[in-house]
Amino acid sequence: MEEKIFDLIVLGGGPAGLNAALYAKRGGIDVAIVDTSSVGGQPVNYLEIENYLGFPTIQGWELAEKFEQHIDKFNIQKFQNEEIQNVDLTSTIKTVQTLKNKYLAKTIIIATGASPKKLGIRGEDEYIGRGVSYCAVCDGAFYKNKTVVVIGGGNAAVEEGIYLTKFAEKVYIMHRRDELRADKIIQERAFDNEKIEFIFDSVPLEIVGDDKKVNLIQYKNVKTGEIKTLNVDGVFPYIGFSPNTEFFNAQLVQDEFGFIRVDENMRTSEIGVFAAGDVRRTPLRQVITAVADGAVAGMSAVRYLEEVKHLEKEGVIIR
Ligand code: NAP
Repeated sequence: MEEKIFDLIVLGGGPAGLNAALYAKRGGIDVAIVDTSSVGGQPVNYLEIENYLGFPTIQGWELAEKFEQHIDKFNIQKFQNEEIQNVDLTSTIKTVQTLKNKYLAKTIIIATGASPKKLGIRGEDEYIGRGVSYCAVCDGAFYKNKTVVVIGGGNAAVEEGIYLTKFAEKVYIMHRRDELRADKIIQERAFDNEKIEFIFDSVPLEIVGDDKKVNLIQYKNVKTGEIKTLNVDGVFPYIGFSPNTEFFNAQLVQDEFGFIRVDENMRTSEIGVFAAGDVRRTPLRQVITAVADGAVAGMSAVRYLEEVKHLEKEGVIIR
């Protein structure tokens, strides 16, 4: 049987991927979304979102659900729980190989997002699920009346620290400098919260526990060099994100951190391949910017396919 060739395959079903698929579908092309889990992306793990225009306050999962309902209304095909193994982006017909299936497409939009960065210290991997967590929303309730430490000074660290005070008795936020990166409004909320204590100019060195759970974190004051310990039940690293790009193995131009470089039309260095959202190099990683990227990428894919069709009619062979 001849394999189906989609006009467009969108890799990733977060805000960028879903909106790219929506714009492409409304642009009249045959599109499918391939995602490693269920669609929704990072917002599923967010608490309240306050900066998505039109929704003064909305739960992350609720916004993700609305996105999916919107996609379903347009009957966009979704292949979920498909672990992407590798992709061939350089041929005229692109290939996406997952653990279970192979998909073919004339164009690809990469919207695979980014994953939490690890601290890279002793004890981190060992205690994942036993005191180390990268998702306060998922695991916060396990820390009722306990003591936790959040690592990082950005919006995520401070917001998740505030969230954890709903459960924990005490929340430390450890930051490597003496000034937070988080927005002022978020900082003020944390400074006003009696359960939160900041530990500035400090970096974690090791997470220590017994055979069941985390007991303490060892850390260093980077100004004085002093090494101290803090008794904690949980450690929540929130030190930023790395792009999810392992599967395409240097087929595209990326920046020094691995984020994909695109032009203003979300075109990557490879013809017929676009990138959108957190996976691309961008000055702002928000749901709203991811959605906007998706719109541009979706339309760029539609225009690219129109150009190809036009050239083929004229007898021009594309590679
Ligand atoms: P981020 O803004 O990059 O902040 C990462 C934090 O971790 C920084 O404070 C950084 O310190 C620290 N850090 C980095 N590497 C470290 C290491 N190895 N050891 C110790 N500390 C380390 O990342 P984010 O907070 O995850 O946010 C990512 C993006 O999502 C941002 O654009 C953010 O604005 C956005 N976001 C927005 C909201 C919201 O608007 N409500 C909520 C969450 C996230 P330095 O400050 O010293 O670099």
